[in-house]
Amino acid sequence: MKIGFIGLGNMGAPMAANLVAAGHEVTGFDVVVKALDGLTMAETAAAAAKGQDVVITMLPNGAILRQVAAEILPQMSAGAGFVDCSTVDVASAVAVAKDAEAFGVLAVDAPVSGGIGGASAGTLTFMAGGSEAGFALAAPLFEIMGQKAVHCGASGAGQSAKICNNMILGVTMIATCEAFALADKLGLDRQKMFDVVSTSSGASWSINTYCPAPGIGPQSPADNGYKPGFAAELMVKDMALSQEAAEQVDAATPLGAAALDLYRRFVEDEGGKGKDFSAMLPLFEQKGRGA
Ligand code: NAD
Repeated sequence: MKIGFIGLGNMGAPMAANLVAAGHEVTGFDVVVKALDGLTMAETAAAAAKGQDVVITMLPNGAILRQVAAEILPQMSAGAGFVDCSTVDVASAVAVAKDAEAFGVLAVDAPVSGGIGGASAGTLTFMAGGSEAGFALAAPLFEIMGQKAVHCGASGAGQSAKICNNMILGVTMIATCEAFALADKLGLDRQKMFDVVSTSSGASWSINTYCPAPGIGPQSPADNGYKPGFAAELMVKDMALSQEAAEQVDAATPLGAAALDLYRRFVEDEGGKGKDFSAMLPLFEQKGRGA
């Protein structure tokens, strides 16, 4: 396929590299990244999108996505696919899909889970929203860049699934960190705590796969000085998106709201910026009930 790839940062660059390695012809554009092995670079987003079978975007937020979409859609051919893999607000995903429809372009919102490691290894999970035809067009590319793709429903459904997933992740990580800090103060050995919880009803991805306690369980950012991994500020972004969506549809998310507040304080006032989101554990270690 002829593919345009716009947004070649931490995630986009390795995803594009995997498409090139699979034999696709990829034209890239990024406002900062000006060269990448195996890609032909374009001068503008519009030039990267023109005449492609599929255009993929991997951008920081919904406002930038809307701006890029306005620029590229008029250049795209009817029947082409526009696959946005960024994590953005549901409203932007739906708005961009509506605009695409006017040009006969098949829009798919397809945010990912799996982080930079998954992007490099080609093992991302894609959660997609859009038409059957759009999903079918993008599916072979998801297979190259990932290990699983779920068609969640109409436009916006991919972003909805992503923010719900990450709201669970954000909340369970805090719950796991506060439980470890409590266990410490109760004099419980951390390894014993892990052995019990990871095989009991308190188990979750946060403890079993990404344990926030160093030296316990599988390798995780905790074993690397809490270097991200998944940076706490990205968790703030995703938790804020979940709360914005919850506001719009009047959904009760009290734990989501509390977790957003805690991550925000962590990043803004408590030294969490640039650290993995699981570094909530050393933070809770220092706190007592009054904090
Ligand atoms: P990044 O900041 O490394 O990359 C974004 C890229 O977009 C940058 O290279 C930037 O120069 C480029 N860009 C910004 N504005 C542009 C424009 N107008 N035109 C073209 N390029 C532009 O971010 P990332 O970590 O690659 O994340 C990308 C998206 O993936 C985000 O929405 C993020 O929430 C999501 N995501 C990230 C991770 C992760 O672990 N990093 C995991 C899952 C999802």
